[in-house]
Amino acid sequence: MAIVALAGGVGAGKFLRGLVRAVPAHDVTVVVNTGDDRRFHGLHVSPDLDSVTYWLAGRADRDRGWGREGETFRATEELRAFGAADSWFGLGDLDLATHLHRTSLLDRGVPLSEATSHVAARFGIDARILPMTDDLVETRVEVAGQEGEPLDLHFQEYWVQRGAADQVKEVRFAGALAARPGPGVLEAIAAAGAVLICPSNPIASIDPILAVPGIREAVAARRDRVAGVSPIVGGAPLRGMADRLLPAAGVEVSAAGVAEHYAGLLGGWVIDHRDARLAGRVEGMGLRVAVTDTIMVDDAAAEALARVALRAALGR
Ligand code: GDP
Ligand code: CA
Repeated sequence: MAIVALAGGVGAGKFLRGLVRAVPAHDVTVVVNTGDDRRFHGLHVSPDLDSVTYWLAGRADRDRGWGREGETFRATEELRAFGAADSWFGLGDLDLATHLHRTSLLDRGVPLSEATSHVAARFGIDARILPMTDDLVETRVEVAGQEGEPLDLHFQEYWVQRGAADQVKEVRFAGALAARPGPGVLEAIAAAGAVLICPSNPIASIDPILAVPGIREAVAARRDRVAGVSPIVGGAPLRGMADRLLPAAGVEVSAAGVAEHYAGLLGGWVIDHRDARLAGRVEGMGLRVAVTDTIMVDDAAAEALARVALRAALGR
């Protein structure tokens, strides 16, 4: 059975490792957020595509979450010694090779989707990894800075450079209206036996995917076969700063709040034991609710979670 997963970075990467243990990897198509892509030192960096790739390849650094295991940061240290403008963003030495290779392909006119397949093939990944679009979509965060001054920041500037310290006014996806879904994205969703929304940041990772015209409608059309896993456990994100972005989008920071945010897309919703008291509220939205352990401490835990999510999508 063909399965599509909508994915951000680390939460998705862990979950997908479980999913490809539960079903054959070649049945899985992952549609990945590219809204937080940015050029650093002239290189096209795609943090979520790379997180998904490294996790599926078994090359991710499990403790740090992002980047590759056994990584060193000598080039970044050298860039910092130069005072290079972009050196606030740490890029590992092994990771740099991915960015160099991808950028050289893009600069020769190869679309991001093709460059992504190239990278995935080198890592021996059997799942299909698709960027949400080949076009440029940029997640912008409008904030009030430390002195209350209005700032319009790239997501990475808000998140990494400034440590999510600013008061968020609005998140928008610049370029989304003119973007087209990546090749194969709509077809994969239409043909899928199940569509899963990974436990990713709803505002920064999943919403940009849904903002590409056609994708939200394609998922909604499959609503009976769609399930998601809550990235909010016990009223807080497990890591990251999703709790800073959700309120700005008017979303309650809870497993039920995120389900409401995805209203119209979901048939099923998976929440953690710690949030079991919210099950009735989610059922009240007309969703199938599964309550389970959603903390993916290892691949076995992720596999068990993936099986529950598949059952929630299929209604059995
Ligand atoms: P990125 O890596 O910063 O792009 O972040 P993601 O879009 O993957 O989102 C991070 C989200 O993943 C956070 O809200 C975390 O709570 C969630 N997450 C990370 N690990 C787990 C886990 O083991 N279980 C669940 N349910 N959520 C997780
Ligand atoms: Ca991300």
